[in-house]
Parts: sequence; structure tokens; C-alpha cells
Amino acid sequence: MVESTSYLYKAENPEHTVSLAARLAPYFRPGTVITLDGDLGAGKTAFSKAVARAIGVSDVVNSPTFTIIKEYEGERFPFYHMDVYRLSQDEADELGLDEYFFGEGITLVEWSSLITELLPEDRLAIAIRHTEDGNPEGRMFTLTPHGNPYKEWCEQLKENGILQ
Ligand code: ADP
Ligand code: MG
Repeated sequence: MVESTSYLYKAENPEHTVSLAARLAPYFRPGTVITLDGDLGAGKTAFSKAVARAIGVSDVVNSPTFTIIKEYEGERFPFYHMDVYRLSQDEADELGLDEYFFGEGITLVEWSSLITELLPEDRLAIAIRHTEDGNPEGRMFTLTPHGNPYKEWCEQLKENGILQ
């Protein structure tokens, strides 16, 4: 397998996490899929809330752990927020995830590594982990774009000094 290029973003605090979402949002278009992986408490839901805010979702966005998928209305597109931690293969088949991935909205998938084979080929994969510098609010985001346009987004954000 060819190694994908990855990009880094270091957040020193929750506001920096919000900034990353705000920097990505202008690139969004119908069918955008972003996957979020990282331990409990890494910031997957915090980042999802920031994305929701960035696209003008006015409802409160909570962790969809028990509902698996929540749908919201944004200003320009719907927002589909998934947490597949408790999703079984049968349930996944019933939910018809492709309807979301290839739909009109922006989809964020928490714990996506549990359903890798069900994900669309083109997506922006984001892994979040705590930094090891003793800052409790420090988070390292590793962005791995799969396919275009995600590669272009990351390259542009790197040129603009947002990503490393
Ligand atoms: P997950 O969905 O990955 O389990 P959450 O987003 O629910 O994690 O929780 C992340 C927690 O970490 C929240 O309480 C949030 O306030 C806190 N936090 C501290 N610093 C950051 C940061 N830089 N980015 C995101 N969340 C942060
Ligand atoms: Mg969560």
C-alpha cells in the first residue's frame, strides 16, 4: 500500500481546535466526509461541535453515542454526525450509511476505524491525540486526505501556514 501524506495541526487549547474547524469549513461541499479517531476524551465531539458551528448549525450538538446518527440543518447544507462506537455490522447495513456519505450534507464519523470497510474511498481522516508536553489542553491533529479534493484542501492549508 502506498503511504498517504499526512499533515499536522497542534492545538494548545479548545479555541485552537475551533480554529481548525473554521479553517476547513470554507472547503466543505455536499458529500464531504471527515472521519475522527482518537481515544475517549481526545476531542472528537468537541471538534464536531466546532464544525457544526462553522457551518451554521444552531441546534446544540451532542455526542450521538446512543443514537449513532444525528442530523442537523446547517446554513448551506445538512450536517450528519455519527458515532459508530456501538454499531454492529447488521445495524450498519440497515442504516445505509452511503445515503449519508454520498448525500447533500457534511458527514463526520467518530470512531470511524471500527467501520473502515464501510467508509467512502475519498475522505479526510483526522486522528486526535493528547500531546505529551504536559499541557492538558494540548491536542495533536493528524490529517490524512484520501483522494481529491481533500489533498488539495490540505496542501492549501499547508501553504497558508495552518497545517504542518
Ligand atoms: P471524544 O469525543 O473524543 O471522546 P470529547 O470531545 O467529548 O472527546 O471531549 C474532549 C474533552 O477535552 C472536552 O471536555 C474538551 O473540553 C476537552 N479539551 C481540552 N482541550 C481540548 C482541545 N484542545 N481540543 C478539544 N477538546 C479539548
Ligand atoms: Mg465523542
